[in-house]
Amino acid sequence: MTEITRRGFVKGAALVAPLAFAPFTVAQTTSASRYDVVVVGAGHNSLITACYLAKAGFKCLVLEGRPKIGGGTKTAELTLSGFQHDVCSSIHARIQANPLIKNNELNLGEYGLEYIFPDPVYHIAFPDGSYITKWRDFDRTCEEIAKYSKKDADTWRRMATEADAIRPIVNEVEYTPIGFGKSLAERLADHPQGKLWQRRIAMSKWDVLHQNFEDERTMVAMMPPFPKELTGPYSGFSAYPSKREEVPQPKGGSGMIATALQRFLEAHGGEILVNKPAEHFIVENGRCVGVECADGTSYRAERAVLSTVHIKQLVKMAPSGLWPADFLEGVKTFNTGNASFNSHFATTEPLKFQVKSGTIVPVHISNIQSCKRALRYESELTAGEFHVEEPVLHIVQTSVADPTRAPAGMHTIRVLCEQAVYNLPDGGPGRWEEIKAEVQLAHLRAAQKIAPNLTDDKILARFSTSPVDIEQMNAAMWHGSCHSGTDGPAQAGAMRPVPGWAQHRMPIPGLYQTGGTTHPGGGVSGGPGRNAAVVMLKDFGTSMEETLGKKG
Ligand SMILES: Cc1cc2nc3c(=O)[nH]c(=O)nc-3n(C[C@H](O)[C@H](O)[C@H](O)COP(=O)(O)OP(=O)(O)OC[C@H]3O[C@@H](n4cnc5c(N)ncnc54)[C@H](O)[C@@H]3O)c2cc1C
Repeated sequence: MTEITRRGFVKGAALVAPLAFAPFTVAQTTSASRYDVVVVGAGHNSLITACYLAKAGFKCLVLEGRPKIGGGTKTAELTLSGFQHDVCSSIHARIQANPLIKNNELNLGEYGLEYIFPDPVYHIAFPDGSYITKWRDFDRTCEEIAKYSKKDADTWRRMATEADAIRPIVNEVEYTPIGFGKSLAERLADHPQGKLWQRRIAMSKWDVLHQNFEDERTMVAMMPPFPKELTGPYSGFSAYPSKREEVPQPKGGSGMIATALQRFLEAHGGEILVNKPAEHFIVENGRCVGVECADGTSYRAERAVLSTVHIKQLVKMAPSGLWPADFLEGVKTFNTGNASFNSHFATTEPLKFQVKSGTIVPVHISNIQSCKRALRYESELTAGEFHVEEPVLHIVQTSVADPTRAPAGMHTIRVLCEQAVYNLPDGGPGRWEEIKAEVQLAHLRAAQKIAPNLTDDKILARFSTSPVDIEQMNAAMWHGSCHSGTDGPAQAGAMRPVPGWAQHRMPIPGLYQTGGTTHPGGGVSGGPGRNAAVVMLKDFGTSMEETLGKKG
Protein backbone atom coordinates (compact mmCIF):
# COMPACT_ATOMS: atom_id res chain seq x y z
CA MET A 1 0.00 0.00 0.00
CA THR A 2 1.20 3.52 -0.71
CA GLU A 3 2.49 5.19 2.41
CA ILE A 4 0.93 8.54 3.23
CA THR A 5 2.76 11.00 5.46
CA ARG A 6 1.07 13.08 8.13
CA ARG A 7 0.67 16.01 5.74
CA GLY A 8 -1.13 13.76 3.32
CA PHE A 9 1.63 13.41 0.74
CA VAL A 10 2.62 10.17 -0.87
CA LYS A 11 5.93 9.41 0.75
CA GLY A 12 8.84 9.94 -1.58
CA ALA A 13 6.61 11.32 -4.34
CA ALA A 14 7.17 15.02 -4.52
CA LEU A 15 7.80 16.43 -1.11
CA VAL A 16 9.93 19.30 -2.26
CA ALA A 17 9.13 22.79 -1.09
CA PRO A 18 8.94 25.59 -3.67
CA LEU A 19 12.42 26.59 -4.67
CA ALA A 20 14.41 28.72 -2.29
CA PHE A 21 17.11 30.36 -4.35
CA ALA A 22 20.73 30.29 -3.24
CA PRO A 23 23.08 33.18 -4.05
CA PHE A 24 24.59 33.30 -7.53
CA THR A 25 27.96 31.55 -7.79
CA VAL A 26 30.28 30.55 -10.62
CA ALA A 27 29.10 27.13 -11.79
CA GLN A 28 31.36 24.23 -12.70
CA THR A 29 30.03 22.10 -15.52
CA THR A 30 29.02 18.69 -14.18
CA SER A 31 28.21 16.69 -17.26
CA ALA A 32 30.84 15.67 -19.75
CA SER A 33 28.14 15.23 -22.43
CA ARG A 34 27.40 18.06 -24.81
CA TYR A 35 23.88 19.32 -25.30
CA ASP A 36 22.44 21.74 -27.81
CA VAL A 37 19.52 22.57 -25.57
CA VAL A 38 18.98 22.23 -21.83
CA VAL A 39 15.31 22.21 -20.86
CA VAL A 40 14.17 23.13 -17.35
CA GLY A 41 11.05 21.23 -16.28
CA ALA A 42 9.35 18.18 -17.77
CA GLY A 43 5.72 19.23 -18.15
CA HIS A 44 3.95 18.22 -21.37
CA ASN A 45 4.72 21.57 -23.05
CA SER A 46 8.50 21.57 -22.55
CA LEU A 47 8.63 17.86 -23.45
CA ILE A 48 6.79 18.64 -26.70
CA THR A 49 9.31 21.36 -27.58
CA ALA A 50 12.18 19.01 -26.73
CA CYS A 51 10.69 16.27 -28.93
CA TYR A 52 10.44 18.53 -32.00
CA LEU A 53 13.98 19.81 -31.41
CA ALA A 54 15.25 16.23 -31.01
CA LYS A 55 13.48 15.21 -34.22
CA ALA A 56 15.27 18.07 -35.94
CA GLY A 57 18.57 16.59 -34.73
CA PHE A 58 19.34 18.77 -31.71
CA LYS A 59 20.64 17.03 -28.59
CA CYS A 60 18.33 17.86 -25.66
CA LEU A 61 18.68 17.36 -21.93
CA VAL A 62 15.57 17.82 -19.76
CA LEU A 63 16.02 18.59 -16.05
CA GLU A 64 12.93 17.85 -13.95
CA GLY A 65 12.85 19.09 -10.39
CA ARG A 66 10.57 16.37 -9.05
CA PRO A 67 11.02 12.59 -8.84
CA LYS A 68 8.52 12.07 -11.66
CA ILE A 69 8.00 13.86 -15.00
CA GLY A 70 4.70 15.20 -16.32
CA GLY A 71 3.89 18.22 -14.13
CA GLY A 72 0.15 18.82 -14.45
CA THR A 73 -0.17 15.67 -16.55
CA LYS A 74 1.04 13.34 -13.83
CA THR A 75 -0.79 10.15 -12.84
CA ALA A 76 0.04 8.51 -9.52
CA GLU A 77 -1.19 6.01 -6.95
CA LEU A 78 -2.31 8.73 -4.56
CA THR A 79 -4.49 6.51 -2.39
CA LEU A 80 -3.95 2.76 -2.69
CA SER A 81 -1.86 0.46 -4.81
CA GLY A 82 -3.50 -0.10 -8.20
CA PHE A 83 -5.59 3.11 -8.12
CA GLN A 84 -4.16 5.46 -10.77
CA HIS A 85 -5.26 9.03 -10.00
CA ASP A 86 -4.62 12.05 -12.21
CA VAL A 87 -2.90 14.50 -9.86
CA CYS A 88 -4.12 17.50 -11.91
CA SER A 89 -5.45 17.31 -15.47
CA SER A 90 -7.66 14.54 -16.83
CA ILE A 91 -9.27 16.17 -19.89
CA HIS A 92 -7.03 16.49 -22.96
CA ALA A 93 -9.56 18.33 -25.13
CA ARG A 94 -7.62 21.33 -26.39
CA ILE A 95 -4.61 19.33 -27.53
CA GLN A 96 -6.81 17.47 -30.04
CA ALA A 97 -6.69 20.58 -32.27
CA ASN A 98 -2.90 20.87 -31.94
CA PRO A 99 -1.20 19.70 -35.17
CA LEU A 100 0.88 17.45 -32.88
CA ILE A 101 -2.20 15.26 -32.35
CA LYS A 102 -4.49 16.39 -35.17
CA ASN A 103 -1.86 15.66 -37.84
CA ASN A 104 -0.12 12.96 -35.80
CA GLU A 105 3.17 14.82 -36.32
CA LEU A 106 5.23 12.76 -33.85
CA ASN A 107 3.35 9.45 -34.11
CA LEU A 108 2.85 9.44 -30.34
CA GLY A 109 0.50 6.47 -30.70
CA GLU A 110 3.57 4.36 -31.43
CA TYR A 111 5.00 5.51 -28.11
CA GLY A 112 1.91 4.56 -26.09
CA LEU A 113 -0.47 7.53 -26.29
CA GLU A 114 -4.04 6.44 -26.93
CA TYR A 115 -7.17 8.51 -26.32
CA ILE A 116 -10.50 7.37 -24.92
CA PHE A 117 -13.54 9.53 -25.67
CA PRO A 118 -16.06 9.03 -22.84
CA ASP A 119 -19.77 9.12 -23.65
CA PRO A 120 -21.76 10.75 -22.08
CA VAL A 121 -19.53 13.79 -22.15
CA TYR A 122 -20.91 15.58 -19.10
CA HIS A 123 -23.78 15.18 -16.67
CA ILE A 124 -25.14 18.23 -14.88
CA ALA A 125 -27.25 17.32 -11.85
CA PHE A 126 -29.53 20.05 -10.47
CA PRO A 127 -30.65 20.21 -6.83
CA ASP A 128 -34.33 19.62 -7.75
CA GLY A 129 -33.48 16.30 -9.42
CA SER A 130 -33.61 17.64 -12.98
CA TYR A 131 -30.54 17.15 -15.16
CA ILE A 132 -28.94 17.75 -18.53
CA THR A 133 -26.62 15.14 -19.98
CA LYS A 134 -24.32 16.11 -22.84
CA TRP A 135 -23.57 13.31 -25.30
CA ARG A 136 -21.13 12.87 -28.13
CA ASP A 137 -24.22 12.57 -30.32
CA PHE A 138 -25.14 16.22 -30.84
CA ASP A 139 -28.81 15.50 -31.62
CA ARG A 140 -29.11 13.63 -28.33
CA THR A 141 -27.72 16.64 -26.44
CA CYS A 142 -30.22 18.90 -28.21
CA GLU A 143 -33.02 16.57 -27.07
CA GLU A 144 -31.81 16.98 -23.48
CA ILE A 145 -32.01 20.78 -23.84
CA ALA A 146 -35.44 20.54 -25.48
CA LYS A 147 -36.81 18.80 -22.34
CA TYR A 148 -36.82 22.25 -20.73
CA SER A 149 -37.00 24.61 -23.71
CA LYS A 150 -37.54 23.83 -27.37
CA LYS A 151 -36.42 27.35 -28.20
CA ASP A 152 -33.14 26.86 -26.34
CA ALA A 153 -32.53 23.58 -28.16
CA ASP A 154 -32.95 25.35 -31.52
CA THR A 155 -30.65 28.16 -30.38
CA TRP A 156 -28.07 25.63 -29.11
CA ARG A 157 -28.12 23.96 -32.54
CA ARG A 158 -27.73 27.28 -34.41
CA MET A 159 -24.95 28.49 -32.13
CA ALA A 160 -23.00 25.23 -32.47
CA THR A 161 -23.23 25.38 -36.27
CA GLU A 162 -22.04 29.00 -36.33
CA ALA A 163 -19.22 28.42 -33.84
CA ASP A 164 -17.91 25.31 -35.58
CA ALA A 165 -17.52 27.40 -38.75
CA ILE A 166 -15.18 29.82 -36.97
CA ARG A 167 -13.40 27.32 -34.68
CA PRO A 168 -10.59 26.48 -37.16
CA ILE A 169 -9.58 30.17 -37.15
CA VAL A 170 -9.36 30.29 -33.37
CA ASN A 171 -7.37 27.03 -33.37
CA GLU A 172 -4.93 28.36 -35.98
CA VAL A 173 -4.27 31.40 -33.80
CA GLU A 174 -3.62 29.21 -30.76
CA TYR A 175 -1.20 26.98 -32.64
CA THR A 176 0.78 29.77 -34.27
CA PRO A 177 3.45 31.67 -32.34
CA ILE A 178 2.71 35.36 -31.85
CA GLY A 179 3.91 37.31 -34.89
CA PHE A 180 4.29 34.18 -37.04
CA GLY A 181 0.89 34.56 -38.66
CA LYS A 182 -2.16 36.78 -38.76
CA SER A 183 -3.75 37.79 -35.49
CA LEU A 184 -7.28 36.70 -34.64
CA ALA A 185 -8.60 40.18 -35.50
CA GLU A 186 -6.91 40.05 -38.92
CA ARG A 187 -8.19 36.55 -39.62
CA LEU A 188 -11.73 37.53 -38.63
CA ALA A 189 -11.55 40.59 -40.86
CA ASP A 190 -10.97 38.21 -43.81
CA HIS A 191 -13.91 35.97 -42.87
CA PRO A 192 -17.47 36.52 -44.22
CA GLN A 193 -18.93 36.32 -40.68
CA GLY A 194 -15.93 38.04 -39.15
CA LYS A 195 -17.74 41.18 -38.06
CA LEU A 196 -20.28 39.17 -36.09
CA TRP A 197 -17.50 37.24 -34.36
CA GLN A 198 -15.36 40.23 -33.49
CA ARG A 199 -18.11 41.23 -31.08
CA ARG A 200 -19.09 37.72 -29.98
CA ILE A 201 -15.56 36.68 -29.07
CA ALA A 202 -14.96 39.81 -27.03
CA MET A 203 -18.25 39.43 -25.13
CA SER A 204 -18.35 37.82 -21.73
CA LYS A 205 -19.60 34.26 -21.55
CA TRP A 206 -22.31 35.43 -19.23
CA ASP A 207 -23.62 37.99 -21.75
CA VAL A 208 -23.72 35.40 -24.52
CA LEU A 209 -25.59 32.94 -22.34
CA HIS A 210 -28.26 35.17 -20.94
CA GLN A 211 -28.83 36.98 -24.23
CA ASN A 212 -29.43 33.72 -26.07
CA PHE A 213 -31.12 31.27 -23.71
CA GLU A 214 -34.35 31.41 -21.71
CA ASP A 215 -34.01 28.40 -19.37
CA GLU A 216 -31.41 28.70 -16.64
CA ARG A 217 -30.53 25.00 -16.90
CA THR A 218 -29.42 25.52 -20.51
CA MET A 219 -27.13 28.35 -19.40
CA VAL A 220 -25.68 26.26 -16.58
CA ALA A 221 -25.12 23.37 -18.99
CA MET A 222 -22.90 25.63 -21.09
CA MET A 223 -20.56 26.31 -18.18
CA PRO A 224 -18.67 23.04 -17.56
CA PRO A 225 -15.93 22.06 -17.81
CA PHE A 226 -14.64 25.59 -17.36
CA PRO A 227 -17.31 27.39 -15.36
CA LYS A 228 -14.90 30.04 -14.17
CA GLU A 229 -14.44 31.64 -17.58
CA LEU A 230 -17.34 34.05 -17.48
CA THR A 231 -15.12 36.90 -18.60
CA GLY A 232 -11.95 37.33 -20.62
CA PRO A 233 -11.03 37.11 -24.30
CA TYR A 234 -12.58 34.17 -26.12
CA SER A 235 -14.84 33.70 -23.10
CA GLY A 236 -17.71 34.75 -25.37
CA PHE A 237 -16.53 32.09 -27.79
CA SER A 238 -16.36 29.49 -25.03
CA ALA A 239 -20.06 30.15 -24.39
CA TYR A 240 -20.77 28.69 -27.83
CA PRO A 241 -21.42 24.97 -28.00
CA SER A 242 -19.89 22.65 -30.56
CA LYS A 243 -21.36 19.77 -32.49
CA ARG A 244 -18.28 17.81 -31.39
CA GLU A 245 -18.09 18.17 -27.64
CA GLU A 246 -15.52 15.78 -26.23
CA VAL A 247 -13.62 15.06 -23.03
CA PRO A 248 -10.75 12.83 -24.23
CA GLN A 249 -8.58 11.16 -21.62
CA PRO A 250 -5.40 9.19 -22.30
CA LYS A 251 -5.76 5.46 -21.70
CA GLY A 252 -3.82 4.68 -18.53
CA GLY A 253 -4.01 8.25 -17.21
CA SER A 254 -3.03 11.81 -18.02
CA GLY A 255 0.60 10.84 -17.39
CA MET A 256 0.64 8.71 -20.53
CA ILE A 257 1.26 11.83 -22.62
CA ALA A 258 4.45 12.52 -20.66
CA THR A 259 5.46 8.86 -20.90
CA ALA A 260 4.93 8.84 -24.68
CA LEU A 261 6.89 12.09 -25.07
CA GLN A 262 9.71 10.71 -22.90
CA ARG A 263 9.87 7.57 -25.06
CA PHE A 264 9.93 9.68 -28.23
CA LEU A 265 12.61 11.97 -26.85
CA GLU A 266 14.86 9.13 -25.74
CA ALA A 267 14.39 7.37 -29.07
CA HIS A 268 15.70 10.56 -30.68
CA GLY A 269 18.82 10.91 -28.55
CA GLY A 270 17.37 13.10 -25.78
CA GLU A 271 17.88 12.59 -22.05
CA ILE A 272 15.79 13.32 -18.96
CA LEU A 273 17.14 13.66 -15.43
CA VAL A 274 14.72 13.80 -12.47
CA ASN A 275 15.25 15.26 -8.97
CA LYS A 276 17.06 18.17 -10.62
CA PRO A 277 15.41 21.42 -9.50
CA ALA A 278 17.12 24.15 -11.51
CA GLU A 279 18.13 27.09 -9.39
CA HIS A 280 20.10 29.50 -11.56
CA PHE A 281 20.79 30.19 -15.19
CA ILE A 282 24.46 30.36 -16.16
CA VAL A 283 24.94 33.63 -18.00
CA GLU A 284 28.22 34.40 -19.76
CA ASN A 285 28.89 37.53 -21.78
CA GLY A 286 25.21 38.41 -21.47
CA ARG A 287 24.06 35.07 -22.90
CA CYS A 288 22.33 32.18 -21.16
CA VAL A 289 24.58 29.15 -21.64
CA GLY A 290 23.40 26.68 -19.05
CA VAL A 291 21.65 25.79 -15.85
CA GLU A 292 22.78 25.20 -12.30
CA CYS A 293 20.70 22.88 -10.11
CA ALA A 294 19.97 23.01 -6.38
CA ASP A 295 22.29 20.01 -5.80
CA GLY A 296 25.22 22.00 -7.22
CA THR A 297 25.35 20.20 -10.57
CA SER A 298 25.33 22.26 -13.73
CA TYR A 299 24.64 21.63 -17.39
CA ARG A 300 25.75 23.69 -20.37
CA ALA A 301 23.79 24.23 -23.57
CA GLU A 302 25.55 25.08 -26.81
CA ARG A 303 22.51 26.69 -28.43
CA ALA A 304 19.83 27.55 -25.88
CA VAL A 305 18.14 27.00 -22.56
CA LEU A 306 14.38 26.42 -22.57
CA SER A 307 12.43 27.07 -19.38
CA THR A 308 8.95 26.08 -18.26
CA VAL A 309 9.56 27.57 -14.80
CA HIS A 310 6.76 29.89 -13.72
CA ILE A 311 7.71 33.46 -14.70
CA LYS A 312 7.32 34.59 -11.08
CA GLN A 313 10.33 32.32 -10.36
CA LEU A 314 12.10 32.74 -13.69
CA VAL A 315 13.18 36.26 -12.80
CA LYS A 316 14.83 34.98 -9.61
CA MET A 317 17.07 32.62 -11.60
CA ALA A 318 19.36 35.32 -13.00
CA PRO A 319 20.64 38.56 -11.47
CA SER A 320 17.91 41.22 -11.52
CA GLY A 321 20.08 43.58 -13.56
CA LEU A 322 19.77 41.22 -16.54
CA TRP A 323 15.99 41.67 -16.77
CA PRO A 324 14.69 44.94 -18.29
CA ALA A 325 12.55 47.03 -15.94
CA ASP A 326 9.44 46.69 -18.10
CA PHE A 327 9.83 42.90 -18.15
CA LEU A 328 10.09 42.82 -14.35
CA GLU A 329 7.02 45.05 -14.11
CA GLY A 330 5.15 42.70 -16.48
CA VAL A 331 6.03 39.72 -14.27
CA LYS A 332 5.04 41.60 -11.13
CA THR A 333 1.63 42.47 -12.54
CA PHE A 334 1.02 38.97 -14.00
CA ASN A 335 -2.12 37.62 -12.34
CA THR A 336 -1.69 33.92 -11.59
CA GLY A 337 -5.43 33.33 -11.24
CA ASN A 338 -7.38 30.84 -9.21
CA ALA A 339 -6.18 27.75 -7.41
CA SER A 340 -7.92 24.43 -6.75
CA PHE A 341 -8.77 22.00 -4.00
CA ASN A 342 -8.80 18.33 -5.03
CA SER A 343 -10.01 15.25 -3.23
CA HIS A 344 -9.17 11.85 -4.66
CA PHE A 345 -11.07 8.76 -3.57
CA ALA A 346 -10.48 5.06 -4.09
CA THR A 347 -13.95 3.49 -4.10
CA THR A 348 -15.85 0.27 -4.66
CA GLU A 349 -18.52 2.06 -6.69
CA PRO A 350 -18.80 5.11 -8.99
CA LEU A 351 -21.37 7.90 -8.69
CA LYS A 352 -24.53 6.79 -10.48
CA PHE A 353 -27.48 8.83 -11.70
CA GLN A 354 -31.09 7.92 -12.39
CA VAL A 355 -32.33 9.33 -15.69
CA LYS A 356 -35.43 8.69 -17.77
CA SER A 357 -33.82 5.83 -19.68
CA GLY A 358 -32.40 4.14 -16.54
CA THR A 359 -29.09 4.54 -14.72
CA ILE A 360 -26.09 6.34 -16.21
CA VAL A 361 -22.50 6.39 -14.97
CA PRO A 362 -20.80 9.44 -16.49
CA VAL A 363 -17.07 10.23 -16.24
CA HIS A 364 -17.64 13.97 -15.79
CA ILE A 365 -20.27 15.44 -13.50
CA SER A 366 -21.03 18.99 -12.43
CA ASN A 367 -23.14 20.17 -9.54
CA ILE A 368 -23.36 23.84 -10.52
CA GLN A 369 -26.63 24.78 -8.96
CA SER A 370 -27.46 27.98 -10.78
CA CYS A 371 -26.09 30.87 -12.80
CA LYS A 372 -26.31 33.02 -9.69
CA ARG A 373 -23.96 30.63 -7.87
CA ALA A 374 -21.50 30.77 -10.79
CA LEU A 375 -21.58 34.56 -10.81
CA ARG A 376 -21.09 34.68 -7.06
CA TYR A 377 -17.96 32.58 -7.09
CA GLU A 378 -16.46 34.90 -9.70
CA SER A 379 -16.84 37.72 -7.21
CA GLU A 380 -15.71 35.52 -4.29
CA LEU A 381 -12.51 34.70 -6.14
CA THR A 382 -11.93 38.33 -7.03
CA ALA A 383 -12.31 39.25 -3.37
CA GLY A 384 -9.96 36.42 -2.34
CA GLU A 385 -12.68 34.53 -0.46
CA PHE A 386 -13.12 30.79 -0.15
CA HIS A 387 -16.35 29.20 1.08
CA VAL A 388 -17.09 25.56 1.80
CA GLU A 389 -20.84 26.14 1.53
CA GLU A 390 -22.49 25.48 -1.85
CA PRO A 391 -19.24 24.36 -3.49
CA VAL A 392 -19.14 24.24 -7.27
CA LEU A 393 -17.64 20.88 -8.09
CA HIS A 394 -16.34 19.05 -11.11
CA ILE A 395 -16.37 15.33 -10.36
CA VAL A 396 -14.23 13.08 -12.52
CA GLN A 397 -14.35 9.29 -12.45
CA THR A 398 -11.86 8.31 -15.12
CA SER A 399 -12.00 4.60 -14.24
CA VAL A 400 -15.55 4.46 -15.62
CA ALA A 401 -14.19 4.79 -19.16
CA ASP A 402 -10.82 3.20 -18.47
CA PRO A 403 -10.83 0.08 -16.27
CA THR A 404 -6.99 0.06 -16.24
CA ARG A 405 -7.17 2.91 -13.72
CA ALA A 406 -8.30 0.78 -10.77
CA PRO A 407 -8.46 -2.87 -9.67
CA ALA A 408 -11.38 -4.83 -11.20
CA GLY A 409 -14.74 -3.35 -10.21
CA MET A 410 -13.14 -0.46 -8.28
CA HIS A 411 -12.98 3.22 -9.12
CA THR A 412 -10.86 6.37 -8.94
CA ILE A 413 -12.98 9.43 -8.23
CA ARG A 414 -11.76 13.00 -8.01
CA VAL A 415 -13.82 15.86 -6.60
CA LEU A 416 -12.33 19.08 -7.94
CA CYS A 417 -13.16 22.59 -6.80
CA GLU A 418 -11.46 25.17 -9.04
CA GLN A 419 -12.64 28.07 -6.92
CA ALA A 420 -9.94 28.06 -4.28
CA VAL A 421 -7.56 30.81 -3.21
CA TYR A 422 -3.96 30.36 -2.03
CA ASN A 423 -4.00 33.06 0.60
CA LEU A 424 -6.90 32.21 2.89
CA PRO A 425 -8.41 35.37 4.40
CA ASP A 426 -7.78 34.31 8.02
CA GLY A 427 -4.32 32.87 8.28
CA GLY A 428 -2.99 32.85 4.71
CA PRO A 429 -1.62 29.72 3.02
CA GLY A 430 -0.64 28.17 6.37
CA ARG A 431 -4.32 27.73 7.28
CA TRP A 432 -4.96 25.21 4.51
CA GLU A 433 -3.46 22.41 6.58
CA GLU A 434 -5.93 23.22 9.38
CA ILE A 435 -9.05 23.21 7.21
CA LYS A 436 -8.12 20.50 4.72
CA ALA A 437 -10.11 17.70 6.35
CA GLU A 438 -13.15 19.96 6.78
CA VAL A 439 -13.07 21.02 3.11
CA GLN A 440 -12.63 17.43 1.94
CA LEU A 441 -15.67 16.33 3.93
CA ALA A 442 -17.82 19.24 2.75
CA HIS A 443 -16.97 18.44 -0.88
CA LEU A 444 -17.64 14.74 -0.39
CA ARG A 445 -21.02 15.50 1.18
CA ALA A 446 -21.91 17.79 -1.75
CA ALA A 447 -21.03 14.97 -4.18
CA GLN A 448 -23.08 12.48 -2.15
CA LYS A 449 -26.03 14.88 -2.25
CA ILE A 450 -26.34 14.52 -6.02
CA ALA A 451 -25.32 10.81 -6.02
CA PRO A 452 -26.51 9.24 -2.74
CA ASN A 453 -25.29 5.80 -3.88
CA LEU A 454 -21.72 6.80 -2.93
CA THR A 455 -22.12 6.04 0.76
CA ASP A 456 -19.13 6.33 3.10
CA ASP A 457 -18.66 2.54 3.29
CA LYS A 458 -17.83 2.52 -0.46
CA ILE A 459 -14.81 4.76 0.10
CA LEU A 460 -11.60 2.79 0.65
CA ALA A 461 -9.12 5.65 0.89
CA ARG A 462 -8.93 9.39 0.32
CA PHE A 463 -6.24 11.98 -0.40
CA SER A 464 -6.61 15.74 -0.77
CA THR A 465 -4.42 18.47 -2.20
CA SER A 466 -4.81 22.10 -1.19
CA PRO A 467 -3.37 24.94 -3.33
CA VAL A 468 -0.27 24.81 -1.08
CA ASP A 469 0.17 21.08 -1.74
CA ILE A 470 -0.24 21.61 -5.48
CA GLU A 471 2.54 24.20 -5.45
CA GLN A 472 4.79 21.91 -3.42
CA MET A 473 4.22 19.13 -5.92
CA ASN A 474 4.89 21.38 -8.92
CA ALA A 475 6.77 24.67 -8.60
CA ALA A 476 5.38 25.77 -12.00
CA MET A 477 1.91 25.92 -10.38
CA TRP A 478 2.88 29.04 -8.53
CA HIS A 479 0.60 29.59 -5.51
CA GLY A 480 -1.40 26.59 -6.66
CA SER A 481 -2.37 28.31 -9.90
CA CYS A 482 -4.45 25.97 -12.08
CA HIS A 483 -3.72 27.50 -15.46
CA SER A 484 -0.46 29.40 -14.82
CA GLY A 485 -2.27 32.73 -14.99
CA THR A 486 -5.62 34.24 -15.93
CA ASP A 487 -6.36 34.56 -19.63
CA GLY A 488 -8.13 37.92 -19.44
CA PRO A 489 -7.30 40.70 -21.91
CA ALA A 490 -4.28 41.85 -19.87
CA GLN A 491 -2.37 38.62 -20.41
CA ALA A 492 -3.59 36.84 -23.52
CA GLY A 493 -1.99 36.58 -26.97
CA ALA A 494 0.76 39.16 -27.46
CA MET A 495 0.48 40.12 -23.78
CA ARG A 496 1.51 36.67 -22.52
CA PRO A 497 3.60 36.42 -20.45
CA VAL A 498 4.67 40.06 -20.85
CA PRO A 499 4.03 42.49 -23.72
CA GLY A 500 7.10 42.52 -25.98
CA TRP A 501 8.21 39.01 -24.95
CA ALA A 502 5.37 36.86 -26.25
CA GLN A 503 7.49 35.02 -28.83
CA HIS A 504 9.07 32.62 -26.30
CA ARG A 505 12.38 34.53 -26.57
CA MET A 506 13.24 35.94 -23.16
CA PRO A 507 15.19 39.16 -22.52
CA ILE A 508 18.42 37.21 -21.85
CA PRO A 509 19.70 36.00 -25.25
CA GLY A 510 19.79 32.21 -25.46
CA LEU A 511 16.91 31.81 -22.98
CA TYR A 512 13.48 30.69 -24.20
CA GLN A 513 10.25 30.22 -22.27
CA THR A 514 7.35 27.80 -22.83
CA GLY A 515 4.57 26.42 -20.60
CA GLY A 516 1.27 27.84 -19.48
CA THR A 517 2.64 31.33 -18.84
CA THR A 518 3.13 31.70 -22.62
CA HIS A 519 0.68 31.84 -25.55
CA PRO A 520 -1.91 30.28 -25.77
CA GLY A 521 -1.86 29.78 -21.98
CA GLY A 522 -2.57 27.02 -19.48
CA GLY A 523 -4.34 23.73 -19.91
CA VAL A 524 -3.27 20.62 -21.75
CA SER A 525 -3.09 22.15 -25.22
CA GLY A 526 0.57 21.60 -26.02
CA GLY A 527 0.26 24.98 -27.77
CA PRO A 528 3.03 26.72 -25.82
CA GLY A 529 5.24 23.67 -26.43
CA ARG A 530 4.77 23.42 -30.19
CA ASN A 531 4.83 27.20 -30.66
CA ALA A 532 8.15 27.46 -28.78
CA ALA A 533 9.53 24.73 -31.05
CA VAL A 534 8.52 26.71 -34.15
CA VAL A 535 10.38 29.79 -32.84
CA MET A 536 13.48 27.90 -31.71
CA LEU A 537 13.75 25.88 -34.92
CA LYS A 538 13.63 29.13 -36.90
CA ASP A 539 16.31 30.69 -34.69
CA PHE A 540 18.46 27.58 -35.15
CA GLY A 541 18.33 28.03 -38.92
CA THR A 542 15.75 25.39 -39.78
CA SER A 543 11.94 25.18 -39.57
CA MET A 544 9.02 23.12 -38.38
CA GLU A 545 8.27 22.16 -41.98
CA GLU A 546 11.82 20.91 -42.57
CA THR A 547 11.72 19.00 -39.26
CA LEU A 548 8.42 17.31 -40.08
CA GLY A 549 9.82 16.33 -43.47
CA LYS A 550 12.56 14.30 -41.74
CA LYS A 551 12.07 10.56 -41.44
CA GLY A 552 11.80 8.97 -37.96
C1 LIG B 1 -6.17 20.36 -10.22
C2 LIG B 1 -5.92 20.72 -11.65
C3 LIG B 1 -6.70 20.12 -12.64
C4 LIG B 1 -6.49 20.44 -13.97
N1 LIG B 1 -7.25 19.83 -14.94
C5 LIG B 1 -7.03 20.11 -16.23
C6 LIG B 1 -7.74 19.39 -17.24
O1 LIG B 1 -8.52 18.45 -16.97
N2 LIG B 1 -7.51 19.73 -18.53
C7 LIG B 1 -6.62 20.71 -18.88
O2 LIG B 1 -6.47 20.99 -20.08
N3 LIG B 1 -5.90 21.37 -17.93
C8 LIG B 1 -6.07 21.07 -16.63
N4 LIG B 1 -5.31 21.70 -15.66
C9 LIG B 1 -4.25 22.62 -16.08
C10 LIG B 1 -3.02 21.86 -16.58
O3 LIG B 1 -2.68 20.81 -15.71
C11 LIG B 1 -1.80 22.79 -16.72
O4 LIG B 1 -2.18 24.00 -17.31
C12 LIG B 1 -0.74 22.11 -17.56
O5 LIG B 1 -0.28 20.94 -16.92
C13 LIG B 1 0.45 23.03 -17.80
O6 LIG B 1 1.42 22.28 -18.49
P1 LIG B 1 2.92 22.80 -18.64
O7 LIG B 1 3.61 21.80 -19.48
O8 LIG B 1 2.90 24.19 -19.12
O9 LIG B 1 3.53 22.83 -17.17
P2 LIG B 1 3.43 21.85 -15.95
O10 LIG B 1 2.55 20.70 -16.26
O11 LIG B 1 3.10 22.67 -14.78
O12 LIG B 1 4.92 21.28 -15.82
C14 LIG B 1 5.99 22.06 -15.37
C15 LIG B 1 7.11 21.11 -14.94
O13 LIG B 1 8.28 21.87 -14.66
C16 LIG B 1 8.85 21.42 -13.43
N5 LIG B 1 9.59 22.54 -12.85
C17 LIG B 1 9.11 23.74 -12.46
N6 LIG B 1 10.11 24.52 -12.00
C18 LIG B 1 11.25 23.77 -12.10
C19 LIG B 1 12.62 24.03 -11.81
N7 LIG B 1 13.03 25.20 -11.31
N8 LIG B 1 13.53 23.05 -12.06
C20 LIG B 1 13.15 21.86 -12.60
N9 LIG B 1 11.86 21.57 -12.89
C21 LIG B 1 10.93 22.53 -12.65
C22 LIG B 1 7.66 20.98 -12.60
O14 LIG B 1 8.04 20.09 -11.57
C23 LIG B 1 6.77 20.34 -13.68
O15 LIG B 1 7.10 18.98 -13.85
C24 LIG B 1 -5.49 21.39 -14.32
C25 LIG B 1 -4.71 21.98 -13.32
C26 LIG B 1 -4.92 21.66 -12.00
C27 LIG B 1 -4.06 22.27 -10.94
